[in-house]
Amino acid sequence: MKRVISIILCTVLVFCTVAPCVTANQENIPSFDWDGNPIIFIQGYSGPILIRDRGLETEEQIWGINAKDLIKKLASNLPGLISGLAKYHNGDTEPFVEKFREFSAELVDDISMMPDGSSKYNVVSYPTYVEEASVKYINEEKDGDYLPMTEGELIEAMAQTVPEDKIFIFNTDWRRSQIVNCEHLDEFIDSVLKYTGAKQVDIYALSHGGQLTATYLYYHGTNGKIDNVVMNSPAVRGTSLLMELLGDKPINFNLKELLHFGGVMLGTELDIRWATELLPAEFLNSLVKTVFNEVLLPHAIYFGSAWDFMDIETYTALRDVYLDPIENAAIIERADKMHFDCMANIDKGLKAAQAAGVNISIIAGYGTQMGTGKMVDSDYIIDTVSTTGAAAAPYGTTFAQKPKIYGGCTNEAHNHMSPTQAVDASGAYLPENTWFVYGLCHTQAKWDKYVLPLILELLLTDNIKDVHTDERYPQFDLSQCPLDGVYAKFTDSPSGTFTQDSTTLLIRNLSDNHKLTITAVTLNGEPLRTGEIIIDSGEEATVPCIPASDGKPQEITITFQRRGGFLSNEYSRTIYFSAA
Ligand SMILES: [Zn+2]
Repeated sequence: MKRVISIILCTVLVFCTVAPCVTANQENIPSFDWDGNPIIFIQGYSGPILIRDRGLETEEQIWGINAKDLIKKLASNLPGLISGLAKYHNGDTEPFVEKFREFSAELVDDISMMPDGSSKYNVVSYPTYVEEASVKYINEEKDGDYLPMTEGELIEAMAQTVPEDKIFIFNTDWRRSQIVNCEHLDEFIDSVLKYTGAKQVDIYALSHGGQLTATYLYYHGTNGKIDNVVMNSPAVRGTSLLMELLGDKPINFNLKELLHFGGVMLGTELDIRWATELLPAEFLNSLVKTVFNEVLLPHAIYFGSAWDFMDIETYTALRDVYLDPIENAAIIERADKMHFDCMANIDKGLKAAQAAGVNISIIAGYGTQMGTGKMVDSDYIIDTVSTTGAAAAPYGTTFAQKPKIYGGCTNEAHNHMSPTQAVDASGAYLPENTWFVYGLCHTQAKWDKYVLPLILELLLTDNIKDVHTDERYPQFDLSQCPLDGVYAKFTDSPSGTFTQDSTTLLIRNLSDNHKLTITAVTLNGEPLRTGEIIIDSGEEATVPCIPASDGKPQEITITFQRRGGFLSNEYSRTIYFSAA
């Protein structure tokens, strides 16, 4: 019975992650002194809607997360899938794979690509034209057929400063190579400039959209059309997540973080990390891996974007296994260009764009293990190294000594080492313009009391030149979403640091709804004598805390309970500090 419940729970969770998110609290979002440029918002992988035969009688939406349709489809296939799952669990994998193949056949065929990397069907992304791409148009057409907007909360926050007819959604055909997509983006930027009469645009881009933006800056960054660019969790040099899923090694999902990530995405304070014990981990690992390899891989090899997600070494090795030099010549040509030209030299490309006047900011999560269990620093989905170009020690370790960086920042007055002593930003693509947020779940800014204002200020204003400009936004800080529970800093020192005179630790309750009971605080593993402290939602408390005087990095762990029945399980957050 427990297993059946677990399987149902897993199914629910998987579908919860694609359900629409709840509205975030916008009360604390200030408005900014906007630079007047139209904003182009570029979303992440597989978000954009795809339409077949647009304008023809046979017009049909063939891709786009639509929870209603998905649930309907799932419901009609559920008995077969469940009986397949039961057999899978007893070691017979084939019936489930067959059922899943059947379940996904139409969807997979609709989005198929040809051996030359072009679409099997006549497909465009939506919005297709600039006239239908503004947030104003999209909001007014809410009853229309297509709703192309994700990250609605973030756009809503942006719209407190920028008129909705000056915010545009750019969607591209995410199946294709970024080499093709960046030309599409260039055309779209031209159409926004013409449509609005503006001289320059600002770009906010997420994840795969961030990789697109970096690629665009590499090829077109000196063309004068771009003012501010903020890339949040960009997959600049791909992600090892996909390689882990497609490779032949077993995976070992980090389910605890997955549940946390799910909670952040849903904007719920219902912290169910404890449910990890109920999840049949081995079963899930094997199931996901099998479905990827048996059902999706044969199609994914014709997606230019799948190759763009690989690092140079993996790409070279797998290209020679999976792609035919004649039949797949066009895919290879673009993927070669992406890897050996763009990705190999991306730091030079970004610096050239910067020198030409583009204000580029990168925001990256770090301090989380890769979702598939690989021991790399990541935001769960993308390696911190790929996002930022910084050096990172294997997940869970620190640098034994400062890594040798070739090129990069050599200014001795700069400290580019993370408080965790695991990330060195001196060799990042842009060491002075990359912000690292400890615990930021891949792209999830909408609910984060720190990241959201940072994005808006970087994007909409010219206030922040680099990571040294504003003490409120240091190079390394912590995610502050309600599900993180607590934030802490020393009262006399900027976030993430301490001084020789530090004596007091400030702890903030990040919850929007719950009192927290702090049950323990430890400094470098030694309990501080604080007793229980109750902190109201959004409030702060201070505790005496004197860091070691040798100037070595400090580690503070705060254990807490969310008050209120079901939520009262115990959680903890470990926060790192380095000498100011
Ligand atoms: Zn520097």
